[in-house]
Amino acid sequence: MVTLGTAAGPVVRSPRRGIATGVVVDGDLYLVDCGLGVVRQIAETELPVNRLRAVLLTHLHSDHIAELPALLLYNWGTQVGGFGEPFPIIGPGSAGALPEGARPVVAPPAPGTAELVRNLMSAYAYDINVRTHDEARPPLDELVRPTDIALPRGIAAGPRADLAPEMEPFEVYRDDKVRIRASLVHHPPVFPSYGFRIETPHGVVAAGAGRCEGAPAGPAAVRRVNGTPRSSQQDRTALVFRSPALTG
Ligand SMILES: [Zn+2]
Repeated sequence: MVTLGTAAGPVVRSPRRGIATGVVVDGDLYLVDCGLGVVRQIAETELPVNRLRAVLLTHLHSDHIAELPALLLYNWGTQVGGFGEPFPIIGPGSAGALPEGARPVVAPPAPGTAELVRNLMSAYAYDINVRTHDEARPPLDELVRPTDIALPRGIAAGPRADLAPEMEPFEVYRDDKVRIRASLVHHPPVFPSYGFRIETPHGVVAAGAGRCEGAPAGPAAVRRVNGTPRSSQQDRTALVFRSPALTG
């Protein structure tokens, strides 16, 4: 696991980069959140973005997603050493409503991950269309597969109710390398906010929405579940898990 950035925002107060975490499992990359600076951090740490398997978004606060457009546009296609295979962007669905008393100033008021990504594609349509034609880039909309996380039935949670009731983590993604489970975390007033549990053959990593501006301290910050927390992008040994068993 490599902590690419830890700075909450949306404001720049230090040289620290915005919130993002990379997890490399047997050469494949899983990325949690896309804060400001994530593109340069991925390049400087030489994370294998050409083997990007999934992007996970804990919640839709801008300090966790501000550089999602640049992540896609600066790593688009094998021509630039970027991704050439489809991958999901997995994140919160629509909140359904704003917090109590909030007046919508932009419509629609609460888009989820899928709508957010669709809107990004529309916003950058000219660039995407030109480069697809002029540079033979692969169709970006076929590579990027946004997915709204659906809460299991029976979870009594909502933007104006309990934001994060007790719940068992539920599966949101699985491939040949990892299983990823999510559960709601308390990050008022944002709903939904998720913590992720990334289960690999080498160990388990947890990452969640615990470090935003104004967020209460909680157990959801990025950490290694089995081992000493590591946070230096220079320390490539952080990519190696040493814990033995995949749990759960
Ligand atoms: Zn937040």
